[in-house]
Amino acid sequence: MAAGVHKEGIAPGRLAADEYAANFGDLHPPLDRHEALVEADRCYFCYDAPCMHACPTSIDIPLFIREIVSGNPLGAARTIFDQNILGGMCARVCPTETLCEEACVREAAEGKPVRIGLLQRHATDAAMTQNRQFYRRAAPTGRRIAVVGAGPAGLAAAHRLALHGHEVTIFEARPKPGGLNEYGIAAYKSVDDFAQAEVDYITAVGGISIVNGRMLGRDVSLAGLAAEHDAVFLGMGLAGVNALRAEGEAALGVGNAVDFISELRQARDLASLPVGRRVVVIGGGMTAIDAAVQSKLLGAEEVTICYRRGRDHMNASGYEQELAASKGVTIRHWLQPRRVISEDGRLKGIEFEYTALSGDRLAGTGETVTLAADQIFRAIGQSFEPAALDGGGSALELRDGRVRVDAEGRTSMPRVWAGGDCVFGGDDLTVSAVAQGRDAAESIHRALSAQERGNG
Ligand SMILES: Cc1cc2nc3c(=O)[nH]c(=O)nc-3n(C[C@H](O)[C@H](O)[C@H](O)COP(=O)(O)OP(=O)(O)OC[C@H]3O[C@@H](n4cnc5c(N)ncnc54)[C@H](O)[C@@H]3O)c2cc1C
Ligand code: SF4
Repeated sequence: MAAGVHKEGIAPGRLAADEYAANFGDLHPPLDRHEALVEADRCYFCYDAPCMHACPTSIDIPLFIREIVSGNPLGAARTIFDQNILGGMCARVCPTETLCEEACVREAAEGKPVRIGLLQRHATDAAMTQNRQFYRRAAPTGRRIAVVGAGPAGLAAAHRLALHGHEVTIFEARPKPGGLNEYGIAAYKSVDDFAQAEVDYITAVGGISIVNGRMLGRDVSLAGLAAEHDAVFLGMGLAGVNALRAEGEAALGVGNAVDFISELRQARDLASLPVGRRVVVIGGGMTAIDAAVQSKLLGAEEVTICYRRGRDHMNASGYEQELAASKGVTIRHWLQPRRVISEDGRLKGIEFEYTALSGDRLAGTGETVTLAADQIFRAIGQSFEPAALDGGGSALELRDGRVRVDAEGRTSMPRVWAGGDCVFGGDDLTVSAVAQGRDAAESIHRALSAQERGNG
């Protein structure tokens, strides 16, 4: 182990070079051909399969598994892409233990579901490594659509719209497309620059141009986009991060988990990335788990997640919690942050108050505990920033701080649709953003086709 591992404070290079490579390798290595055939053979090919209903994009899972069994992984890939053009990324990041695999009848019968995610990866990798394209665009319609945000929702919408013959321009604020696939997903879930490979695969269909570094609210306005295009799709995700509301949280050494993960995802050399010796992560979702696990994999000595409610209330699944524990992360429950403690500008620790439920209400008990820390990450949720929507978002109706849409993804503004994390009522998953982007694209296409018929 490298000498830097015990260094006080926030320091880079805690591990030896080969340890970084080993720690950040593929979390679930792909199945080889034989393993895929054996796994696929476990499927009962249920009629009206429950796994299909549990998948937000309704992939025909029994069909694609049957195609793998019959030695046709490319056919399987097409079955997957018909419903979910980001099936490659979803195969890597879906919390399958709470989606398709939870519903698998083998899970109920023997606690060992068919590994649907890995089979999906087997099929989609086969197609993508050969750049096997399955779709041809419809004849050009002459219609122009603006998509805001090149995350899963925006990419899924753009692909479906391009297939229908429309011309799509994606306006993306960041220097690279992919959204959280590129900047948020844990490094060990998406290795080998897969997010960019997937963007290339999707846009190869044609008719989609991505303008990076172009931000709604700064470089373009919603009213302007709506005036210059036949429709607009907003897939802007959540750009804001919630505050801790703890005394002293502006101290040096306290940061946002999403910024840390984004830096990590963009780092060329993980050894150059500083991390604390004692790290405390506050939150109970996937972001908290990912920040904690990746801190540990970067060489932090002690990593503790503190969550204000109990284990069963955590948004992170049981599987994610076990993953964190297996990497040496401690999870503590019923603690809410009170005060960040610094001395001479150096972070020393954080004081928590114990909490308890009184009926449905969570309240502090008055008892406190202090944890030593030289780095603290906030992972207590992200928020939609409506300021990008022209003058504080007054142009669009919001609900609980996110964009309000109907069942088809239509917003309150004519010719403007939205989907993914930025809309109210979602579950903040990649696969759900894909489903909403795809469905909004179909709604836009129907609206434009109806206009066409009306004009004719
Ligand atoms: C740390 C972290 C880990 C996660 N891990 C998982 C996981 O393992 N599995 C899973 O299923 N889900 C995971 N999620 C959730 C998942 O990443 C999101 O649900 C999904 O990315 C939402 O897609 P989206 O397209 O709505 O938004 P995003 O992926 O956020 O994409 C939005 C895009 O819009 C751009 N944008 C924002 N504002 C503007 C603007 N004003 N103008 C132009 N462009 C703009 C952004 O730069 C971004 O590229 C994770 C989330 C986080 C934060
Ligand atoms: S997209 Fe996700 S939820 Fe749907 S079948 Fe694939 S792995 Fe399961």
